[in-house]
Amino acid sequence: MSASDWKKILNQLENKPAVRARFLKYCKPKERKFGMAAKKCVRCGRFGAHISTYGLNLCRQCFREIAKKIGFKKYY
Ligand SMILES: [Zn+2]
Repeated sequence: MSASDWKKILNQLENKPAVRARFLKYCKPKERKFGMAAKKCVRCGRFGAHISTYGLNLCRQCFREIAKKIGFKKYY
């Protein structure tokens, strides 16, 4: 399990409230204040190559895909 998808476990434990509570208390990944895992892409959830300029909060791959739509222009 990667840190990006640990919330999927909560869906699996919907009908087991006791197990869910124990997971949240002991097994949840800790909240990061800094470091690579502190920020992730809002579109796909990747941790690497994060672009936070202009409040984008995207990874480089998602930025490349949607840059034209959100008004960025490529200069050569
Ligand atoms: Zn992304």
